[in-house]
Amino acid sequence: MHHSAYDWLPRSLETLHKANWYRQVNLVDRPGPLITKDGQQLINFASNDYLGLASDERLSQAAISATRRYGTGSTGSRLLSGHRELHVELEHQLADLKQTEAALVFSSGYLANLGTIAALVGPKDFVLSDIYNHSSLKNGAKLSGATLQDYRHCDINDLAEKLAVRDRYRRCLILTDTVFSMDGDLCPLPAILDLAEYYNCMVLVDEAHATGVFGAYGSGVVEQLHCLSRSVIQVGTLSKALGSLGGFVAGSADLIDFLRNRASTWVYTTGLSPADSAAAIAALKIIRTEPAHRQILWHNLQRCQTLLNRVDPLTSPIFTVPANNPTQAIEHSRSLEERGIWAPAVRPPTVPTSRLRLTLMATHTSEQLEKLAVEIKNLTPAHSN
Ligand SMILES: *Cc1c(COP(=O)(O)O)cnc(C)c1O
Repeated sequence: MHHSAYDWLPRSLETLHKANWYRQVNLVDRPGPLITKDGQQLINFASNDYLGLASDERLSQAAISATRRYGTGSTGSRLLSGHRELHVELEHQLADLKQTEAALVFSSGYLANLGTIAALVGPKDFVLSDIYNHSSLKNGAKLSGATLQDYRHCDINDLAEKLAVRDRYRRCLILTDTVFSMDGDLCPLPAILDLAEYYNCMVLVDEAHATGVFGAYGSGVVEQLHCLSRSVIQVGTLSKALGSLGGFVAGSADLIDFLRNRASTWVYTTGLSPADSAAAIAALKIIRTEPAHRQILWHNLQRCQTLLNRVDPLTSPIFTVPANNPTQAIEHSRSLEERGIWAPAVRPPTVPTSRLRLTLMATHTSEQLEKLAVEIKNLTPAHSN
């Protein structure tokens, strides 16, 4: 009998379907608090566009002007033909937002993490990673070839215990999201930095959901928790609150200089497009000069917390509604959708337990938040355990 080498694919898909782990894409017409999906208008609680900038006319105009002036593609890696004045300006603005000496722009946040981690550590080194960290941090650690150890979620004591063997290794790098992408909770950053100092470790924080959202200056959780003056490598994305596409690392001039030489996901890939770069520059200007967007977002968060009678405060624009299992999570998401609300289910293997994951935007209206609260209260609650 001759089997095809690809026979396992339909079998794997079948397994995913049976476990209710199968995922599919959703066609959405455009960004914003109101979207059209399958011909139906829905209030969008699934966007990372926290400040509503992805549909801001000023970003679109900046992208159009940059395209007219510099063309569509950057045509080469930054070290060859792909380095533009726009990149210099963008990196300057990012370093300003992050209050660091320098910054480096990558094609995405995912690539920024992969390339930076793999450049900083290697087989002689030790990486400690929060168990709930984003996939890009986990895969960056794997790619580096360092010895990898997960510590319990936000558990400083567990981290300290695992650091006991630090001396067996050359360098040590601690990795953590500052805002965890599936639960919206914050890492205990000052305590992590204290431990890192004591054990002589580098710390890389992923500010993907924090940049533009946290801190008086919009810098992120590092600013919010008064850690800007401490030694920490900050990674972020241009594709969430900044409404564009791309990622970045901010830190010391030496770090950035080193990454320009050693981060393979930066060296061997094409520079960011003029349109994306210019849109991100426009977003950074808005974040610097119009703190009102951020304030309205935080006001919406408080409003939501009150409307939902939540005992645990919302610590970020990401929050969850727990479900008993993947099937219930999907049912909840469907029933909200029938009532005009887009709140997707997230399930294993992305997260350990099934839930709805919702995100708030500065551009949600009070009426939209009120409707959300009414409809969430109508769902059958998950058993508490
Ligand atoms: C979204 C996200 C990334 C990836 O950023 P992209 O620019 O979308 O590739 C990295 N880390 C975290 C925590 C994220 O939520």
